[in-house]
Formats: sequence, structure tokens, C-alpha cells
Amino acid sequence: MLSFLGYSSMDHFVSDVIPSNILVRRPLSIEPIAGFSECELTARLRSIANKNTILRSYIGAGYYGTIVPPVIQRNILECPEWYTSYTPYQPEISQGRLESLLNFQTMVTDLTGMSIANASLLDEATAAAEAMLLSFNSARGKKKTFYVDPSLHPQTIACIRSRASPFNINIVYDLPDIDEDLFGGVAQYPATNGSLIDYSVLSNRIHSAGGLFSMASDLLALCILKPPSEFGADIVFGSAQRFGVPMGYGGPHAAFFAASDKLKRKIPGRLVGISKDRLGNNAFRLALQTREQHIRREKATSNICTAQALLANMAAMYAIYHGPTGLQNIANRVHSLTSILASVLIKLGFPVINPTWFDTLTVSVADSREVVAHAVAKFGINLRQIDRHHVSISIDETVSKQDLLDLASIFATLPALQLGISATHPAIVPSVFSRSGNILEYEVFTSHHTETEMLRYVHHLQSKDLSLANSMIPLGSCTMKLNATTQMIPISWPEFSSLHPFAPRDQARGYMELIGELETDLADITGFAATSLQPNSGAQGEYAGLRVIRAYFEAKGESHRNICLIPVSAHGTNPASAAMAGMKVVAVKCTAQGELDLTDLKQKANRYSSELAAMMVTYPSTFGIFEPKVREAIDIVHASGGQVYMDGANMNAQIGLTSPGDLGADVCHLNLHKTFCIPHGGGGPGVGPICVRQHLVPYLPSHPIIPAVDSAYAIEPVAAAPWGSASILAISWAYIKLMGAQGITRSTEYALLNANYMANRLREHYPILYTDGGRRCAHEFIVDLRDLHDSAGIEAIDVAKRLQDYGFHAPTMSWPVSGTLMVEPTESESLSELDRFCDAMIAIKAEIDEIVDGKQPRVNNLLKNAPHSMKDLLQSDDEAWKSRPYTRQRAAYPLEYLNGHKFWPSVTRVDDTYGDLNLFCTCEPISLQDE
Ligand SMILES: *Cc1c(COP(=O)(O)O)cnc(C)c1O
Repeated sequence: MLSFLGYSSMDHFVSDVIPSNILVRRPLSIEPIAGFSECELTARLRSIANKNTILRSYIGAGYYGTIVPPVIQRNILECPEWYTSYTPYQPEISQGRLESLLNFQTMVTDLTGMSIANASLLDEATAAAEAMLLSFNSARGKKKTFYVDPSLHPQTIACIRSRASPFNINIVYDLPDIDEDLFGGVAQYPATNGSLIDYSVLSNRIHSAGGLFSMASDLLALCILKPPSEFGADIVFGSAQRFGVPMGYGGPHAAFFAASDKLKRKIPGRLVGISKDRLGNNAFRLALQTREQHIRREKATSNICTAQALLANMAAMYAIYHGPTGLQNIANRVHSLTSILASVLIKLGFPVINPTWFDTLTVSVADSREVVAHAVAKFGINLRQIDRHHVSISIDETVSKQDLLDLASIFATLPALQLGISATHPAIVPSVFSRSGNILEYEVFTSHHTETEMLRYVHHLQSKDLSLANSMIPLGSCTMKLNATTQMIPISWPEFSSLHPFAPRDQARGYMELIGELETDLADITGFAATSLQPNSGAQGEYAGLRVIRAYFEAKGESHRNICLIPVSAHGTNPASAAMAGMKVVAVKCTAQGELDLTDLKQKANRYSSELAAMMVTYPSTFGIFEPKVREAIDIVHASGGQVYMDGANMNAQIGLTSPGDLGADVCHLNLHKTFCIPHGGGGPGVGPICVRQHLVPYLPSHPIIPAVDSAYAIEPVAAAPWGSASILAISWAYIKLMGAQGITRSTEYALLNANYMANRLREHYPILYTDGGRRCAHEFIVDLRDLHDSAGIEAIDVAKRLQDYGFHAPTMSWPVSGTLMVEPTESESLSELDRFCDAMIAIKAEIDEIVDGKQPRVNNLLKNAPHSMKDLLQSDDEAWKSRPYTRQRAAYPLEYLNGHKFWPSVTRVDDTYGDLNLFCTCEPISLQDE
């Protein structure tokens, strides 16, 4: 490959690709330098895992024990077809996971009683913040007061406060007497102390003030409880964790978010809808994408890009496997065990202070710290300490009779607090809270209750989807790389998966070691002083980083600095995150050569110098080039008193060769689900840590329950759990340790080499943007298709869809430049795979040339009719087929390799407009199917 590009050595090549003022080659101090072998790595991870202590947890507070059905664990969580697929932007090769996410949405709307639900958010606490912001925006920012009910979990309240501060939203914990300024309120059902509370009055008061009422809830409880819709909720959110997703010391889990019909066009996050394909068949797709940050930028409904697709799929499958009766049995059993425990505790002389419950009891004790310590020491049980005189106990589906006996024994071995109190509590759910009618009456939730049926359903869906198990997914900016099996295995070990995030820290020694090492390695890689692993996605990292910058300015008495300069080429999450952090976005131009326009930057930095907070810059730029002038740009911003935020999504092109810290930036986020091998999961999970220079370290986010940092200046949390999605950190830790300092630098070099090799092969057939004059691209490059519009009537989307017929997922389409494809091969693709993709692109160019030459018509041709499903090719009889100016053979098997290696799109091209006009986001209920 080097000689194809005209080089004699990798060093020679690298120094040609990376400008000399950028190439630093600071030796990394990752241990071991040469990397572990897989066996050594597993042994080391075992010894770390053994330092975690797994006790039984009844802490609750949003995280519960659950039984992951093995058929789901092995065939979804541990199955590369599910965990390596991309966000379903190409619906024709993603129908399986789109159907599964639609099942998730259906389950959520059914259990909450709302009319529409999205396909997951990041966690319950940030979902609460999204509910607040949706309510705030619905009042068009004219009202500033938001009511937060004491029934919410503490971490939820902390995230709400954190997100309220940039907008100067006034959070109140008592309903104001005069509520003209009230734009909404939020309460939790069941409450954090376990109570069931009738929120009708609260809901009416908020509505009469013209506000929106949001409710946090719990899907298992809702299987037997009256749905929040019946209390007048406008928004319902919560965590789907206890539907078969392990606690994992905090995550990842899917949050759900449902709303009333009138809010459907304002919902944050991804939404799956039903549309039609070219043949008129039903087909799933992502709906209403025009709400999202890719198009709306700072005006988007949220900054959420990566969400929790894999975990939403697991939760939906859990509901499908158990079905309505199974789920209600689980819920009833949890409730009965809780009721039995309540009567035992009361008999033992411990008052239960919540008069009603689903699964949680708050118990009066003399000294809660003593009780908690006694439970750990004598019974290996974690209870939740509420305050000095109360503990709480949350029961879940894993609790056995023996567990219940042990729980009772904790109290039986303590001196009674108040003997002789009578058990007046109800053992059944009071009728105002009990659910009437059936749940989940949809065919999919009532048909797959044997393991055989379940396995076949899971497999049926996955076989429709193209993932890294099929072929390379060359998505520019998204870095879809290999996820080695050795890196993945530990996430299922109970020592990592079964820990409650609020368990005492001395039970998480293994996690502390792993987290500490990962933080250190990431700081080293980025050239910074410290890392926060809390943010649950790249976009959350951006938000966290900008909040840290604001906190820094506030501490310096410069809180008026609120301008954020963002190049027009930036990823949509950048402006959306800046808006969420309360900053004003000012766009900076790019030159015709795709570089930052330094003249424009200088002008704007000068004009706004007194208010400048930050510049956000992606490096290598989103156009895939190492701009030599980035240091100059950073100096300009610093000279005007601003901080530099580097979007590190493209870190795959920097590691070991250069770094944000070495270039002079102040903070960056990384996408562990891109560069650091956490698989994309079909749209999540993700981890978006931030790394910061020394002066920003005191401001890194903390946590109200388990302080993640020790600083009086720490910003409030940006996620529900102290270390975000802790369980999947093991994947990135393992990647770094397998590579070592040498290997990880080598992988950067290969990423650059692979991209330049492909760019050079394709250059003879397509214009490649921004690499003219012999300049090389970085780790990705842009194929320009804009001329084909006039010469052949062909658009980027036609090439993208035709690539599906060749067995490939399209590169990033029309971003950052409209009418182009951006290709990123990563270091993990072999030469033969790179060549196979280039061969496909070159063959497609030949098909386009036939249109240009008039040999094929401009409307009815191989590209416009792409992709070709099996049904499309088989159903038209020979007469009908004659209207096609090409053979079936050419449609489906245009190149030799396809004869032994064919992937079939399951539908033909999906109609986007139809789907948005006829928005339909749930399965069809059985009653409708019968009509
Ligand atoms: C992927 C990406 C992001 C956003 O990351 P998410 O995890 O999807 O939120 C931000 N910036 C760039 C350049 C990216 O490629």
C-alpha cells in the first residue's frame, strides 16, 4: 500500500500526511508499551474483577436486580450482528433493529398510556432534564419556574438542576402560590421512598398555570399500576434497566421518553416510524429527522445523537419473551414479596413510613448508618441509607424466599424501634392505583414465549440487518472499527455487570482500579491533565466540556462570557450542545479549500473578545484534513480570552502522533464508541469522556450520592451514575491495554494509510475533495458526486442505495458537504476488504457512465431503482421486467464476488416523505389487525 502511494516507509508517509507543526510523536506512557496478549489481558482483567465485591443489592433508586434471559444475553447483548450495527440511517438494510425499536416504542406507549414514545434516551436523570427543557421551550422561554417534587431520585434532581442553570430556570421544591411563571413540574411514581401518590391535584395545578406535567416512572410497576396518562401527565420518562439489562455499576441502560400527541414533533432523540417502500410494502425508518441537530443545529430539540439502541432492544425483547402475563406475574410477585416484608418489619417493630408501595419500603430505624453496616457485615446485603433515621429496601425479580428471610433477619437481630405497632398497611395495591384493562395486546408481545420462538424471532430480525459481521461500514466521522471479542467478554462477568452504582465504594475496588487506569491513559493520549468518564455520549461530553468552561469563567468572575464560535463545517451536536450550555453560537466560515477561514475567525474573535467563551473545533477537520493552521486558530481564540474545545471524535487520526493538549486546546471529548472500540450497538450505547487541561480540573462533574471527584468547584452531574456507563469502560480499557503505547500509535498510522490508499484508488473515478495539489487526506476522505446531478440525474442517495446491492453500507452521506459521500475505513479493515469496496464504487461509476452516455435512461436505471430486494426481482413477471433496461443478474450480482457473498436488502427504497406525513410510531394493535 505504501508503494502504491509512492512511499518507502510508514514514517515517510506519515510525515507527508501530517504537517510538521502538527506531528508531535510524544511517546505515550501506556503500560505495557508493547501491549498484552489476549491471554495476559484476560488474566489481568480477572484479577481486577475479583477486587469487586458483589453483595445483594436492595438499594433501588433507579437500579434494580434483573434476570437477563440467556436467549437475550447470548443472542443480542453478546451477538455482533446486534452490537456492531450502525444507527439505522439506511433503513433498507436495518429493518430488523428498526422493528425491534418500534417494539420498544410500542411497549413504552402501552405501559405509560401515552400516545408516542422515542427509541431511547441516555438515562433516567438526563431524560428528566429533557422533559424540563421540552416544557421550557413549549412556553417559548417566557416562563422561568419549574417545580421539582421531592418524590424524585436525588440523582434525577441533580441532573435537572444542572441543566436548568444555563437557562436561569428557577427550580422550586414547593409549588408557588402565584404560579404565573410556572412552565412545568415533575414528580415520580412510584416515589423514591416507595409511595404511590395520586398526582391528579398536582397535575391540575400545573395545567391551570399553563404548564406541562412530567412523570418519572418504572415500567415494571406500570405493568400493574394505573398509567401516568390517567393522572394527566404530558410527558412520562424513566429507565428500562430492570427489563433485563444488568445494573453494570451504572450503565449503560435505555431511558424511555413518552409524550402526549400534541408534543410529538418536539420529542428529543430518535423516533422510529412506519412508511412504505417503492413497492408499497410497509417499511420502518427513522422519522422526523428534521427535528434533529444534524439539520436544526442550535435550534434542535436536543443534542442527542448516540442514544441506547442496544439496551432498548434488550428491554423490548425482555417484554416480548415474558409477554403481558409473564410481566404482570413478575410485577405481582415483586409487589407481594414487598408486602410480606412490610408486615414482617412492622411486626418486628420497625415502622414502614410509606403508606403504599410497589416494590420499595422506607423503614424507620434508630441509626441508619449502623443498620446499613450491620446488613453488609452480617448478611452481605446493601440497603439504601435515606437519612439518619431511615433506610429503604427495594425488591426485584431476583429476590428469593431465602433473600426475604435474610432481609427480615437483619431487622430481627436489631433492637426493635417501636414494639406493638399494628400492621395497618394494605397488602394489595389500593384501587385508585390499580391498573384496569390488559397490557401489551399486540401480536409481537403475545407470540414468542418459548425459547425456540424467541431465538427465531431474534434471528429473523438480525438477518435483515447489515453489520460489521457482513462487511466494512465506511462511515466518515463515525469510526466503525473492529470490536475484538476479548474486549467484549468481561462486560458479562457478574463482577462487572451486577454492581449497583451506589454500592459503597469499597465494594468497587476493581472498578476503581480500571477507571483510574483508563482515566490516566486517556489523559495521556489527549495530552491533558485529567479525565471525566461520566458523559454517556459524545454530545453529552460536548455539553459537559462547555459547562466546565463556563464554571471556570464564573469562578474568575467572567460569567458574562457566553459566545461560542463554531465553524460551519461542525458536527450538528456542537451547536446543539453549545445552545444547551446556554451559549450563543456564532458561525465561523470555511474557505473553498475546506479550511477554517482564519480571517473570519480573527474578525469574530476580535468583535466578541469581551464575551468570547469558547471555540469548538474538530481535528482533523470534519473534512478529513490536518489543517496546518490549527495552532494559529487556537492562539487567536486564547488571545481574545476564550477557551478552545476540541471535538475529539476524530481522535483515531491523532493517537500517538499528535493530540489536543499538544496542539494547545483546553478540553476535548472522546467517543469511546468510535476510537476506543465500544461497538456502536445500532445507535448506542456510547461513552463520551472529557479530558481537560490542569486549570479546568476542579470543575469536572461530581455526583450527589457517590462523589466522583473531590472539588468544591465541581459542576453538577451530567449523567445519572457517577461514572456513566461504567460496565462498558472495560472494553476501552482492554483495547488500550491490548494495543499498548506502540500498537495504538501504529493503528493510527494504519488508519491514515487505509484512507489514503482508498482515496488514491478512487481518485481516478471520482473527484476527491480537499486533497488537491498532492496533499493527502487524514483518516477519511470525501467523494464528490455533485457533478453527477447534471450529467446523469444521479444524487448521493442513489449511489448510497446502489452500494447496498453490492453488499455495503453507504459511507456518511451529504455531510459535511451536501451531495458527497465521506469514507472512513479505520485501521481494522484488511486490504482485500478495502479493495472490494473500491471495486464496488468503481463498478457503480461505470453504471453512472452508461447513463451519462445515454445507454441507460435517467429515471429507470440500476441506481434509481436501488436497492433491489429479492421480492422486487422475483415478483415482476417476465413481461413486467421488460420495462427495466437491465437484467436481474446485473441488478443483484453486478460483480463476481457477490456470487458467493450476497447480502439482500429486505425492502426496496423507503419513502421518507410519506413516513413523516403519516406519522405512525407503534405496532398495529391486534384489534386493528382483525378489522
Ligand atoms: C459522532 C460525533 C459526535 C457526537 O457523538 P455522539 O456520541 O453520537 O453524541 C460529535 N462530533 C463528531 C465530529 C462526531 O463524529
